[in-house]
Amino acid sequence: MQAAEVVTKAFLFFLFTKSLIESYLDNRNRKHILANRNSVPEKFQDQITLEDHQKAADYSIAKIKVSKVFNFIELVILLIWTLGGGIEALDKLSKTLNYSELTTGVIFFAIYMFISLLLGLPQSIYSTFVLEEKFGFNKTTPKTFILDLVKGLILGALIGMPIIYAILWIMNALGTYWWVYAWAFLTLTQFVIIWAYPRFIAPLFNKFSKLEDGEVKDKVEQLLNKTGFESNGLFVMDASIRSSHGNAYFTGFGKNKRIVFFDTLIKNLSADEVTAVLAHELGHFKKRHIIKGLAKSIILSFIGFSILGYLADWLPFFTGHGVQTPSTHAALLLFMMVSGIYTFILIPINAMTSRKYEFEADEFASQYANAKDLITALVKLYKHNASTLTPDPGYSKFYHSHPPALTRVKHLESLIKG
Ligand SMILES: [Zn+2]
Repeated sequence: MQAAEVVTKAFLFFLFTKSLIESYLDNRNRKHILANRNSVPEKFQDQITLEDHQKAADYSIAKIKVSKVFNFIELVILLIWTLGGGIEALDKLSKTLNYSELTTGVIFFAIYMFISLLLGLPQSIYSTFVLEEKFGFNKTTPKTFILDLVKGLILGALIGMPIIYAILWIMNALGTYWWVYAWAFLTLTQFVIIWAYPRFIAPLFNKFSKLEDGEVKDKVEQLLNKTGFESNGLFVMDASIRSSHGNAYFTGFGKNKRIVFFDTLIKNLSADEVTAVLAHELGHFKKRHIIKGLAKSIILSFIGFSILGYLADWLPFFTGHGVQTPSTHAALLLFMMVSGIYTFILIPINAMTSRKYEFEADEFASQYANAKDLITALVKLYKHNASTLTPDPGYSKFYHSHPPALTRVKHLESLIKG
């Protein structure tokens, strides 16, 4: 068997194994949620009605059904791009314009990104205007939707294209160890984007206003003093223009950190509960989860680039995935497309680390705020977001970055000071 043939077989094997695992886990999850649909878990009976519980079950099951259809479409699209000769055809098309190798590569990516955007539209339209609408979460108007799309496209062109240009240039010009330079460049770019995001990018999509004086602000400032957290301001984001799901987060780094609350969070939670949620988020920062996550992604991207450095010179990588004409731009795109298939099996490891971090952040929160407030805040968020309280344990272990509601609440209860 030739090397290319082995690559094709491995690709198909990984691809179908991924699909099988996905649908097996989805089925387990659907059955488990259905089996628990008619009774609210005892711990939550005070705060969650049977009606809320059933809405969460129906919403979760509807999401599973939708993702099944779109996962299948995605699989078909990936096969068309690769073994179906899509990348090869796109490469030929880009070459007909007779530009230099580098410009051809950038055009190749521009067309690819545009086609991907179009192919992704049915899913985002359906999710926003049918699924989320049906369960009462959607607040996005068609106008906001289209504006988002246009802004995303312009940003993608302004930010994405120069990055692609630079990487393709590095690949072509910097010799055998180009991948080290490409990795260093991308890491630096990532820092610039993290820095620029809160100030220049996020405001294009949402309005940020200073958190108004009042109980919430007083309590939040007390918490910040207690924990010694330096930030560059407290902001409220008008998340409600798109969705009624609630959240809190902070962005940026160094002195440029901003704490952002979704307006939906401030509206639905009490001042103590908002403070407890923020204490949890600060826990992620103080326990160095954010810096560890960043370090991990930098290391993984180093490994990824070193593999790409090797594969870009290995013909069976191209032909085995359906690309007959090797080039730097085809190598880059092909790698971006297929690497997730081969690393799918690592998802549970990531999820496990993330769940460990959640427990640690909850421990931090219970030291600087009241664990009871965090519990009631969590249950409210579960209710408002119609998140299921009863996911399948196996599904949860594989995918979930957060422990299931019951496990998390029990852990928090053990942290309440007597
Ligand atoms: Zn968390």
